[in-house]
Amino acid sequence: MKHSNGRRNFMATSVQSVGLAALGGMLWSGYTDSVKASPLVLRPPGALKEEDFLAACIKCGLCAEACVNRETNIDRDTGKPRPGTLQMAKGGDSLLIGTPFFVPTEVPCYMCEDIPCVPVCPSGALDMPSLINEKNELDINKASMGLAVVHKESCIAYWGIQCDACYRACPLLDVAITLEYQKNPRTGKHAFLLPVVHDDPCTGCGLCEQACVTEEPAIFVLPNDIAKGKTGDHYVKGWDSNDQKRVKDATSKETKTNLSKDDADDYLNSEVAY
Ligand code: SF4
Ligand code: SF4
Ligand code: SF4
Repeated sequence: MKHSNGRRNFMATSVQSVGLAALGGMLWSGYTDSVKASPLVLRPPGALKEEDFLAACIKCGLCAEACVNRETNIDRDTGKPRPGTLQMAKGGDSLLIGTPFFVPTEVPCYMCEDIPCVPVCPSGALDMPSLINEKNELDINKASMGLAVVHKESCIAYWGIQCDACYRACPLLDVAITLEYQKNPRTGKHAFLLPVVHDDPCTGCGLCEQACVTEEPAIFVLPNDIAKGKTGDHYVKGWDSNDQKRVKDATSKETKTNLSKDDADDYLNSEVAY
C-alpha cells in the first residue's frame, strides 16, 4: 500500500509538474506579450535599440549599481545619498524582468559627465562607442534616451501664464529647450514665451518632466520611435543636398499589373449578379 501511495504521489506530482509547466508556459507567453506591448520604456544612456537591447542585456544590474553608488549621487540639501535613476524591472512592471529602466517623474537621469552606468556594462547592451564624441571622449550629450514632447493644451505657458520651469531645469539650457516669443492675439498686449524642444540636442534625460509645474507633466519624455514618428523614404527635402543624394542613389522597383481589357461602358452596362 505504501508503494502504491508512493506511486500515486509520484503521479500526482508529475501531473502537478506538467500542469505547472503548462501554467508557466501560459504565464510566460502572457508575460512576453505584455513585454512586447510596453513600448513606453526609457532605457539608460547608450542603450541599443529596444529589440537588440533586450537580446543583449544579461540583467546583471551593474549599470543600476554604478548609478546609485556614483559619488555625485548626494542630495545637496540633506547631504544624504539619493535613490538611483536606474531601476531593475521586477514582476508587475510590464517589462522584461531584470532589465534597467528609469521613470523621470521619480528620478530623472542627471546626465553625469563620466556616465558611470555605461562602461560597467559587460554585454554591450549599453553601447559605449555611441557616446564617444569627435574628441574621442565619453560625452553624455550624445545620449538619446528619448525625446521630450510638450502637450500644448496642458502647458500653462501656452495659456499666456509665465512659466519656464522646464526650460530652467534642462541641463542643455537654450539648446535642447528654447523659449519662443509670440504675441498673444487674445489680449493683444501680452506675449507668450513658449517652450520648444529641439530634437537633436535633447537627450531624453527627463529633468524637464520632473520639473514641470502642472499636476501631471505637460512636458514628458517618450522613446524616440514613438516621439519622432517616421516620414517615409519617398518624401524628399528639395533643399537638403544629403537627401537629394539619397534619392539619386536610390534604385527603383517596378511593379506590373495586368490592365483590364474592358472599358468603363462595359462595366456600367453589365448586369449586376446577385
Ligand atoms: S548618466 Fe548618471 S544619472 Fe544617468 S543613468 Fe547614468 S549614472 Fe545614472
Ligand atoms: S529631456 Fe528635457 S531636460 Fe533633458 S535634454 Fe531634453 S529638453 Fe532638456
Ligand atoms: S514647466 Fe510645464 S507648464 Fe511650465 S512651461 Fe514647461 S511644460 Fe509648460
